[in-house]
Amino acid sequence: MSKRVQLTENIKDYMRTKCGTDVDFNQFAVYQARGISTEPISQNSLYDGGVLAREALVDMANIINEPLSTVSIQSMHDNRTLPQGKVFHAEVVDENNATSALYTLFGVSTEHPDLVNKTDNGVIDEVSYGFTPTKVLCSECGKDFMDPDVDIFDLWEGHCPECGAYMGKDGAHVNIPGVKSVSELSLVGRGAAKHAKILDSFYQMAMSEDSTVTLTKESLKKDILKLDLCSNITNEEVIDMTEEEIKAAILSATGPLSEEMGKMQATLASLGEEKNALEAAKDTAEQAVAALKEENASLSKEKADLESALEEAKNKAGEVQSKFDAEIQKVLVAAGLSDSVPTDLEAKLELLNKARLTLANIPVNGVSKPADKLNDDAEKVDFSAFKAN
Ligand SMILES: [Zn+2]
Repeated sequence: MSKRVQLTENIKDYMRTKCGTDVDFNQFAVYQARGISTEPISQNSLYDGGVLAREALVDMANIINEPLSTVSIQSMHDNRTLPQGKVFHAEVVDENNATSALYTLFGVSTEHPDLVNKTDNGVIDEVSYGFTPTKVLCSECGKDFMDPDVDIFDLWEGHCPECGAYMGKDGAHVNIPGVKSVSELSLVGRGAAKHAKILDSFYQMAMSEDSTVTLTKESLKKDILKLDLCSNITNEEVIDMTEEEIKAAILSATGPLSEEMGKMQATLASLGEEKNALEAAKDTAEQAVAALKEENASLSKEKADLESALEEAKNKAGEVQSKFDAEIQKVLVAAGLSDSVPTDLEAKLELLNKARLTLANIPVNGVSKPADKLNDDAEKVDFSAFKAN
């Protein structure tokens, strides 16, 4: 609400002049804007660096203050919607020796609470005048860009067909000595719609009442020459800042931001270090895993080798066992014992002892002849290895 202007008797008079004596003051939220001035224009167009004469501002004030004229409030230069308010009054203020500015008093209809809120809250903080100059003169040679012989591309590029200068470059710019019409005051967001003018015009032409597109060279030229200039909504008197003060304000606004940036960069750097350390740890772990895998493989091979060695040993033991059993069998036969070879080792030893006792009584190179096997054809075996000395 701080942006709204308190209604004085003077202001109420301006409102009565524009809306009739029975105007309901509650129907409007009233604001003030420091309008365009005699300072050079900054706009990416033919008008870049251009200068309005004080007389041009007086023309605008006169047009706006003419009791029967109406300058409507639009938002975002959208002429397809009904006006959302009205300009009540304008005045040229000579701020100092060098600068004059147009101050404007306007009201937004409370039937558009959204627009009022946006203006109150600063979402919309600029106004943009749409107006048509009487002449647009080259500062270098005085050629009028509104002359019918000026090509549309020269207008578009800000190129003077007479002297070749480019407006906004090398000190060349247009001079606007007067204004012949003011079409509207538009409420816009900061920096909005400044460069979207041509697109808007195409759209507006396509949406015109008779639904036919009347896109002609002349209408386009007229549109380029129509000038929209932005300025701030403020109820402060005059904002007078030197370049140094503006720099200081920008620095104080951006200082904390650069500090924050510095902190973020430090955090990023330390995160990078952490990442490197983690990657190194990951490499070490991967190497350890590879070493373990290798060890596992060699252990498996060792195990297999051992298993096959064990198998071989078992086979050998089996062979020895059966050879041993065969030898025992021979001893038993020689000793004339008919027992079969037992599997138990103790029993085998006992049986061999028994055979030894028997064989001890047999002469060298002789064979015992047990009672149940008195056979001369009995096999002759050398049992010297089994003889006890
Ligand atoms: Zn020129």
